[in-house]
Amino acid sequence: MTYQIPKGLFDILPYGVDQEWKLIHYWHFVESVIHDIVKDYGYKELRTPIFERTELFHHGMGQTTDVVSKEMYTFFDRAQRSMSLRPEGTAALMRAFIEHKLNTLGEHHKFYYCGPMFRYERPQSGRYRQHHQFGVEAVGDPSPYLDAEVIDLLLQFYDRLGIVDLSIRINSLGTPYSRSRYAEALKKYLHSSFQQLSKESQERFSKNPLRILDSKDPHDQLLLKKAPSLLDYLEDSEKHHFDVLCRLLTELNISFTIDPLLVRGFDYYDSTVFEVISHQLGAQNAIGGGGRYNHLLESFHGPHLPGIGFATGLERVIQTMISQGISVKDQTSPWICFIALEEQAFHSCFFWAMQLRHKKISSEVIEAKKIQKGLQKANHLQARYAAILGEEEMRNNTIILKDLLQREQQALPMASFLKTLEKLWTEQ
Ligand code: AMP
Repeated sequence: MTYQIPKGLFDILPYGVDQEWKLIHYWHFVESVIHDIVKDYGYKELRTPIFERTELFHHGMGQTTDVVSKEMYTFFDRAQRSMSLRPEGTAALMRAFIEHKLNTLGEHHKFYYCGPMFRYERPQSGRYRQHHQFGVEAVGDPSPYLDAEVIDLLLQFYDRLGIVDLSIRINSLGTPYSRSRYAEALKKYLHSSFQQLSKESQERFSKNPLRILDSKDPHDQLLLKKAPSLLDYLEDSEKHHFDVLCRLLTELNISFTIDPLLVRGFDYYDSTVFEVISHQLGAQNAIGGGGRYNHLLESFHGPHLPGIGFATGLERVIQTMISQGISVKDQTSPWICFIALEEQAFHSCFFWAMQLRHKKISSEVIEAKKIQKGLQKANHLQARYAAILGEEEMRNNTIILKDLLQREQQALPMASFLKTLEKLWTEQ
């Protein structure tokens, strides 16, 4: 029996991939940019487990949301407790925040995470059953300056990767009070057209009317064109918060559009929400998004503290980079590749390579019957230098050093060979 990867999952390989975005060096590059940029904005990493008690997600994200009701990987552990693979990062991070009483250790807290998430969705390009998210969560600060900082961080992240041509949409969902007033107004507006709504929106009508705004059905979208706007229902303080945010974004030279139909997939959002679209991605074009969750912590019986965060999907990030022609070099190539043309030569090359590796100089040893074959392999590995050792060199106590970039070569005495290499390494 042969085994195959489950549907909707993918391997990330150093080579031999069917699609370029699955090459590991892209992932390493993106991850290094993540760990760098968060330092500039003062965010610290917090890692939570891959699975949690199912109730955490039910409660945190909302029972009626698509992810919770249809897409969770839920199982019973051996003690018959219901567990779920995490479908997103915020709920678990807030659980950890409360459990470790981090609120007692300061006023403002800024965290980030990066790792796999699991959703049982219909797989298609840009949509997988395991995907990876980089996200941040900032707790304790209600100021619109923080909203602007979080949005700026997300956009700077894309910018540092070289990604261009993104659109950002923002909206405000208001407070739970203004949101429920709006939900009533929306229901009133849609009441007479109920029969014309898509099946999904009809279901949402009573369970979670705001989610109708997110409908992809063209007929629903037409009906929504004249729907009341969330922004008209904001309380004064929320309206002020949103206006200040818009001003700050403009001052930061961030172009954005206000989209009164923008709602996000989880129930914990209130106040500011935002989403970033990549035009290269096709149907699954949301590359990142987030918003405020000012009441999530207290709903978990935690402290009454506001929060805001974003998450961006690394698959879609790398796919966007590749479709925009941004290539990343594989940095793991050996610096020097020893080509041993016979058995005794292999023994010497092996020990030279080991000595260099111990000095943190990346080295590889290959066996080849012919120089040309050996050089081909060294070039394939993208080595900077090749060191060739055959019968003749053994006899003369020399070794040939070939610069694979400049295409020059010289015979060096074996006795001082390693010293010469180390000098070359430090001088480069
Ligand atoms: P969400 O938690 O749904 O707001 O998703 C945050 C980001 O994760 C999205 O903007 C996407 O970039 C990415 N994402 C969400 N679901 C998937 C998925 N099934 N496959 C790949 N990426 C995803």
